[in-house]
Amino acid sequence: MQSSAAVRRALGPDDLDRPLRAVLPELSRGLSALARLGIDTPRRALFHLPFRYDDFSETRPLGELLPDEKQSARVRVTDVKLEKGFGRRPQRVIAQLADDSGTAEAVWFGRRFVENRLSAGDELLVSGKVQMRGWRPQFVSPEFSPAGRASIHTGRVVPVYPLTAGVTQKRIRELLARVLGRALPAIEDPLTEAERGELPALADALYAAHFPEEAADVPAALDRLAFDELLALQLTLAQARHEREALRAARIEIGADERDRLVGALPFTLTGDQRQAVDEVFADLAAHRPMRRLLQGDVGSGKTAVAAVALAGAVRAGWQGALMAPTEILARQHHAGLQPLLSALGVRAEFLSGALATGEKRRIHDAIAAGEAEVVIGTHAVISQAVTFERLGVAVVDEQHRFGVAQRAALQAKGGGLEPHLLALTATPIPRTLALTFYGDLSISTLRELPPGRQPIRTEVRDRSALARIQAFIAAESAERRQSFVVVPLVAESEALTAASAEAEVERLRGELPALRIGLVHGQQRADERDATMQRFAGGELDVLVATTVVEVGIDVPNASVMLVEDAERFGLAQLHQLRGRVGRGPHRSFCILLSDAVDERSHERLAVVRGSSDGFRIAEEDLRLRGAGNLLGTRQSGLPSLRVASLFEPRHMALAERARQLADAVISDDPPLARRPELLRLRDEFTSAEVEGDAA
Ligand code: ADP
Ligand code: MG
Repeated sequence: MQSSAAVRRALGPDDLDRPLRAVLPELSRGLSALARLGIDTPRRALFHLPFRYDDFSETRPLGELLPDEKQSARVRVTDVKLEKGFGRRPQRVIAQLADDSGTAEAVWFGRRFVENRLSAGDELLVSGKVQMRGWRPQFVSPEFSPAGRASIHTGRVVPVYPLTAGVTQKRIRELLARVLGRALPAIEDPLTEAERGELPALADALYAAHFPEEAADVPAALDRLAFDELLALQLTLAQARHEREALRAARIEIGADERDRLVGALPFTLTGDQRQAVDEVFADLAAHRPMRRLLQGDVGSGKTAVAAVALAGAVRAGWQGALMAPTEILARQHHAGLQPLLSALGVRAEFLSGALATGEKRRIHDAIAAGEAEVVIGTHAVISQAVTFERLGVAVVDEQHRFGVAQRAALQAKGGGLEPHLLALTATPIPRTLALTFYGDLSISTLRELPPGRQPIRTEVRDRSALARIQAFIAAESAERRQSFVVVPLVAESEALTAASAEAEVERLRGELPALRIGLVHGQQRADERDATMQRFAGGELDVLVATTVVEVGIDVPNASVMLVEDAERFGLAQLHQLRGRVGRGPHRSFCILLSDAVDERSHERLAVVRGSSDGFRIAEEDLRLRGAGNLLGTRQSGLPSLRVASLFEPRHMALAERARQLADAVISDDPPLARRPELLRLRDEFTSAEVEGDAA
């Protein structure tokens, strides 16, 4: 007989990342069940955490069971009966239970072979949720184990895990308990005792996160795991900050007189927030370290004007500037919007895109290389290999979320020996706590105040019964020569389905509003095709633009007065707010109609937030509160790291994030490559993905 003791040597720290099959072969058939859940190493098993717990620690006499509560009872089985399924009714197993205080029954549905594991006379500990059937308590699909024997399934706080087909809760619980028993002693705590303070040791935290002695042990355990996750992220950010300390940038000093002269030359008076942002940018430019600043503000808050002053300031001080937008049409709009401001400031701007004729492109490349082009506005073409700046001092990037890390890096390489200063503009506001925690290596300027004279936008929530009236309204607006956006949501399953639903909507609208010129843009189209349609809409050749969310990135059509968002409940609040910002940009009274047939209270509450507020920051904060940060802006564009344990809307975790930030700073300034802290290096690598903003610095 093979001795299992021979196989069961003690595991060491290195075993935690080896294949389970090599390290714990005794799990045998359990290995494939674990593999189906993506668990292939002991460490993965340790970190396969429950998503909730069932607290069955309260044991009650049958006569005192409470309805609709999770609880346990020590019982005697008096009868077991199997009821065959019939038609659509599933098979059921019904057990009669008794104790000194009364009787109850237990029922299990489906083919679960429960009947084979039970017989009259068994003494059991039964744990589950109780329903009252008339006067009689009934356990619905309870867990059970022989009375008097400790069990991980009954009579205690029981973990409930994410599952996949073919693996039961019970099975995964048993397997994880076995892995934990072997692997936990091998885990090393990446934190020193001083660093973790009152937080539990990692092994204790993991044990309690899986099999807490009592429910009260869970929060501290999860806090510890959240802290490690946040620390991993902060280590990445701290390293990015540290690397930047070593970088040198041109010191671009712009005196107060020059600043006042520039600001005074603009065709309008800057708002207080804009002035402050200008001051913050100029202070950064004067430092020898490269600026990394995020300028955030709602659509229409006047970010472009701040960018214009920054670019002009750099030019006056003898440097070149660049502004890049993610698409051709946005780049053109920026050029159109910046040109008058820059020329008022005495600066010449060139437009550069891949779409220009070769000769023209060459002329501009030469002008850039010679330093004659003072500011270059364009698409990614601005950072193409062929472009050499004489002395690039400041680069402005629009909609930073859509700009890849690689592109930002390429832009930085354009400064010759020195790093250009970087200003990123974004209209997706980020609540302050989040910004500080997750863009820790970026400084932030915020425009909260809108420039005077903006048209208020009337926002209404309607259901589909109002569609005919809304369409009539759109027709009436276009009779007045105004234009409308109709936005349809992304279909979760695929871009192709989204495109199909957008096309169907266009056909429907064309049928109902035959007099109107209706165009369509969606993510499946070629970029030039999409740009051409947007251009026609911007030029007034279309009355209605049906779009998936592409318009949100900032096309400016002052003549548009209606924004109709279909299935509005499917959008993030911040997204809805941004979409709304596409109208009300001209002199016309403007409307945002949120169409939704959702009946649940939460959807109503969310849409009411957008209707009730025009403050993007307040809306972002509400969005955060109502949905959690993972969904804050739609995961794709949020740029925020995805966290598994830490929760961004849990104030306790936000405090831990701050603490993690301080620890990360201390550790990194002492040992930047983490050479002496390999366990922290491993932690960092394990949790952080390429999406973390810190990589972009
Ligand atoms: P953003 O880029 O933040 O969406 P813009 O910079 O495009 O906003 O500004 C929106 C509009 O408001 C533009 O027409 C711009 O000329 C105008 N504007 C910007 N700042 C002011 C201001 N301080 N006073 C009046 N109008 C302003
Ligand atoms: Mg803008």
